[in-house]
Amino acid sequence: MTLKERYEGVINYFKTNVPVAETELNYSNPFELIVAVILSAQCTDKRINQVTPKLFKDYPNAEALAAASSDTIFNYIRSVSYPNNKAKHLVNMANMLLKDFNGVIPSEIDQLVKLPGVGRKTANVVASVIYDKPAMAVDTHVFRVSNRLGLTKAKTPLQSEQQLIKHIPEQYIATAHHWLILHGRYVCLARTPKCEICPLTEWCQYFKTKVINKDAPHSLSTKKTIMTKPDPIKTKILNIKAAPAKKSPAKKTETKKDADTKGFIAHSTSLKPGDKAPSFSAKDQNGKMISSKDLKGKNVVLYFYPKDNTPTCTLEACSLRDEHKFLSKKNFVVLGVSADDENMHQKFATKFNLPFSLLADTDMSIIKAYDVWGTKRFMGRIYDGIIRTTFIINEKGIISNVITDVKSKEHGKQILEL
Ligand code: SF4
Repeated sequence: MTLKERYEGVINYFKTNVPVAETELNYSNPFELIVAVILSAQCTDKRINQVTPKLFKDYPNAEALAAASSDTIFNYIRSVSYPNNKAKHLVNMANMLLKDFNGVIPSEIDQLVKLPGVGRKTANVVASVIYDKPAMAVDTHVFRVSNRLGLTKAKTPLQSEQQLIKHIPEQYIATAHHWLILHGRYVCLARTPKCEICPLTEWCQYFKTKVINKDAPHSLSTKKTIMTKPDPIKTKILNIKAAPAKKSPAKKTETKKDADTKGFIAHSTSLKPGDKAPSFSAKDQNGKMISSKDLKGKNVVLYFYPKDNTPTCTLEACSLRDEHKFLSKKNFVVLGVSADDENMHQKFATKFNLPFSLLADTDMSIIKAYDVWGTKRFMGRIYDGIIRTTFIINEKGIISNVITDVKSKEHGKQILEL
């Protein structure tokens, strides 16, 4: 197998089966993200998500954090690893952000790494998540998984980063970082990789050279054995397409167990057809103010989506783009809403030639008014975020439909068929 075929196989698998992959850190703006990523060095995302809500509430921006003492911040983060150093880094980072960058998180790696507490990995995470740059952050999971798969032959994270960037198509680099992290966290574990449930065995060098060799550590007798012993819980979490596992009764059992034990109920908007649509106003990707009061007499498709440039949000936007002329004929005005800013919206709209406005709801006032912020679950993780929801508002400003089961790939058609 050539290196090219190996990359293609792995990327195609993830593209098809894990189309959306995001950081597991909770944040709602760039400042919160950089703080969370600094804190996450050599610590689990779960732990960081436990300490950040109070920290973000009391220190919501660089001004507040810069004015704090590191001793005070220490008390907020004492349960994470290296709290002393991290408290100092956070306060110093906020000060430098104000002094040298006018309070704006820089977008270039060489500027980001000047900030206290920001190493190359953190800088790459921030550049890719906030600025949509094709930057590959290499943490312990990415380093291990890509070496095992044979995507890289690296002795250092920098070598790993350089080799991955060379071979992964630019549009997938940022997402590939999350794919490899999640795979390392849930399947390709450091001490005992779960090759028996792994869907990547076909392309994995470690599997071919070590696992199917009976004398090697973690060895299994044959590939057949491996494929008939799927781990149902992880299979469910990772949406793995190991054929026998998908159809097995274990899936049902796991789903029930999951629901029963976690009692998880995804949030859904409280607005319903017949309700008056909450008024809104925000700037779009071109800086134009869009207000609901200017839309009277029009039918409005107001669709809320989690994030620009992510695979499912791109499918949804492109579907609305492709049906836009038919929607326009029916007097529909299409408006997308997310918490991304004007700049990010503009990049997204330009990249995919979107013919409609994307509202920059950075203070989340529209998101909250339409009650689409809440708890959701993805890849086994439960977290708060924007729930993908579309409201159809009639010419009189009344909600006529609420679509919560959005079919992203064909959302335009889904609306036209209402
Ligand atoms: S086959 Fe095993 S070693 Fe290879 S990626 Fe999967 S879990 Fe990791």
